[in-house]
Amino acid sequence: MLKIVVLGAAAGGGLPQWNCRCAVCAEAWSDPALRETQASLAASVDGRSWFLINASPDLRAQILATPQLHPREGSLRHSPVAGVILTNGEIDAVTGLLSMREGQPFALHAHPRVLETLAANSLFNVLDPAKVPRLPISPGEPFEPLLPDGRPSGLLVEAFDAPGKPAWYLETAAEAPKPAAGDTLGLTLTDRASGARAHVLLACAALTPDLAERLRGADLLFFDGTLWRDDEMILGGLSQKTGRRMGHLSISGPEGAMALLGDLEIRRKVFLHVNNSNPVWLPASPERAAVEAAGWSIPRQGEEFAA
Ligand SMILES: [Zn+2]
Repeated sequence: MLKIVVLGAAAGGGLPQWNCRCAVCAEAWSDPALRETQASLAASVDGRSWFLINASPDLRAQILATPQLHPREGSLRHSPVAGVILTNGEIDAVTGLLSMREGQPFALHAHPRVLETLAANSLFNVLDPAKVPRLPISPGEPFEPLLPDGRPSGLLVEAFDAPGKPAWYLETAAEAPKPAAGDTLGLTLTDRASGARAHVLLACAALTPDLAERLRGADLLFFDGTLWRDDEMILGGLSQKTGRRMGHLSISGPEGAMALLGDLEIRRKVFLHVNNSNPVWLPASPERAAVEAAGWSIPRQGEEFAA
């Protein structure tokens, strides 16, 4: 069985964002039950060894809140985290690695472009390469990440290029940069034993025909739910950037994720990486009702999905 635990569901900044009082953050400042950490998943096929999909700035708090990731009883030093798979080099995907620096062996899997970014930043040298090998991901070539003791994990991972853009801190021009291979990876996770399959796209700027065919008939999909509408940040006075400029399809509208992914016979559909400006966070909002009516869910930290 393929198990996936949501460690956090919010986009960069989390909910609430430290310096924000938009309509949704304002609710979360007054109601702690609405708060959410930044997007990350943990996947396992045996329930004992887990692979993190991205390492968010909230990773330490997420591990504290997730019993599946606690050190095993009876071990002096242990972690169920066998590896980390990075889908991009954004701050909200990589900075949690700095909280994993206590000499624990695990493997770090990322596209060579992201590995280059990490190599260029000496802070990440706190991860001793003798204990934390950095392994390049080749899109289109499925691999089975090994456990730290060298045994096969039973989890098959295939990365694929998702329509997206480079990490924003690497942007140099005011206009949208040209996307390049490896900037944004989607992942297809398969349990080798059962064949159960899940897809993960934390950022996705468009639904290409190839991508639609890949997602068709999936058991479980985690998909970019950053914005409700493309001009959400502009309307809210929060930014001058549209969703497309930031590399994200919106949830709503004729060209949004709900419309485009509605006919692909996907059994379980979950929005992930939901920005704090997005009204779907509010349980009583019409936007939340629309998402749920279309068969999607908005997950919370700690929620476990199985396929
Ligand atoms: Zn906000």
